[in-house]
Amino acid sequence: MLKYGKEILIGFVSVFLLFLQIAIGINVIPFVLLAVIVGGLVYMAKSRGHLATVGGERKGKPRPLQPLSFEEIGGQDRAKRELIEALDFLVHVDQISKFGIRPLKGILLTGPPGTGKTLLAKAAANYTDSIYLGASGSEFVEMYVGVGASRIRELFKDARQKAAKQGKNSAVIFIDEIDVIGGKRDGGQQREYDQTLNQLLTELDGIHTTDSPRILLIGATNRKEMLDSALLRPGRFDRHISVDLPDKKGREHILNLHARNKPIDADDVSLEKIAEESFGFSGAQLESVMNEAAIYAMREEGEAISQRHLSMAIDKVMMGERTDREATHEERERVALHELGHAIAAELVRPGSVSQVALLPRGGALGYVRHNPQQDKYLYTKPFLESQIIIALGGAAAEEMFYGERSTGSRGDFEQAMNIVRSMVESGLTELGIIDSSMMTPDKWAAVTGSILNELMHHAKSMLEENRGVFLSALDVLIQEETLSGDRFRTLLQELTASRQEAIAQ
Ligand code: ATP
Repeated sequence: MLKYGKEILIGFVSVFLLFLQIAIGINVIPFVLLAVIVGGLVYMAKSRGHLATVGGERKGKPRPLQPLSFEEIGGQDRAKRELIEALDFLVHVDQISKFGIRPLKGILLTGPPGTGKTLLAKAAANYTDSIYLGASGSEFVEMYVGVGASRIRELFKDARQKAAKQGKNSAVIFIDEIDVIGGKRDGGQQREYDQTLNQLLTELDGIHTTDSPRILLIGATNRKEMLDSALLRPGRFDRHISVDLPDKKGREHILNLHARNKPIDADDVSLEKIAEESFGFSGAQLESVMNEAAIYAMREEGEAISQRHLSMAIDKVMMGERTDREATHEERERVALHELGHAIAAELVRPGSVSQVALLPRGGALGYVRHNPQQDKYLYTKPFLESQIIIALGGAAAEEMFYGERSTGSRGDFEQAMNIVRSMVESGLTELGIIDSSMMTPDKWAAVTGSILNELMHHAKSMLEENRGVFLSALDVLIQEETLSGDRFRTLLQELTASRQEAIAQ
């Protein structure tokens, strides 16, 4: 009854008004008009009240569309904390001017691609109730002198105008790849770049505490060392916050965030395990893992994403999509021996470490070995790094053992091994002792890399040579089955080693 009270009342009033107009002859039009105006005013007041509650302290103003909060950014706890601390300067303006603190003008976010720097800038705009304007450093690069500078001017003007129009007290300008325009000035060669950077510095200097709307510039780069010192000095980019690759807890958090809108088979899936396996992945790669897993589940017409889909998605993100490349029989045999070289070396220097050996074309490779996740590590000892090099060289060592020469298939392995040697030299872990690597000449680099790699290659070959029989027996199984799980591979290895020992004993 009460449910339809409003409708009954409207019906009753309409009939009553018609009765007054037709039967009694009273002109009801002025009453109707008055009712419409009063109704309109009540409706407007109600909707203002609704916005006031939705927007919290931003009474009466609509929120920006889909505001992004810090809770929606996974991991990055330290970066978020540091950023919020810095942003509080912008929020508590009265205190800032009371203590005569100069305004915070710029925050620099540094870190590898895809770690959430853009997300942090957007969340900063939401946290400070500012408007958000994003741009990329490359948008300011032009052949014509002065165009980049005028674009910078426009960007700041635009931010002020938009903030004023939307009734906001502040604006956040985010410039991604700021190194493109903020690189070190080299004295006249690149006039266009210099003018753009000069304009950026002028705009930063023009920000005052009393300004309204206040502007905060957030820059992002993964090459902080490239930036001009004028940009980094106090009073310009005042805060430097590093946004690193997430640790295991951070990865699990990010996976959980991106799993929210996807059907997950809760009985089967352990995102903790996926977080463990995705060591070194950025937030963007983890988002991609969840997305690819959902695509696999949909293609198989499944109901939900399973652990297998997630595992396949990790392979895809790590090594690229499976390709249909048809390798010849000889090539497949060589690739199989190469991968077995990596896998046997890995089991010998770090038992239990192989997770899968595969003879499947993926990305640019014709086969691959996946290793079991280790604990997130931030410090590496010399023996650990040497064992990494031995595993990387295992493929080439196996090819040399069976064919007498290597193929182009080891290029990536050598690159990986040389990067490890470089980091050993820079960390003072070689016979050169503690050195300034900038003093190293190319000849010296070649000599030290050559000596370390030759010695470890020799070591890898003699280790593998002792297990020549294991190669020959595992080769057939791998060629037939195409993938061997870590456990199956280890069982095979143990059986073969046991039978070899038996043969020696007899
Ligand atoms: P670039 O330096 O390449 O511009 P970036 O550090 O700015 O990268 P974002 O653009 O913020 O990275 O992230 C790209 C995408 O990756 C996001 O849209 C989001 O889907 C995902 N992502 C990255 N980091 C995180 C994170 N910490 N939490 C949740 N999602 C993340």
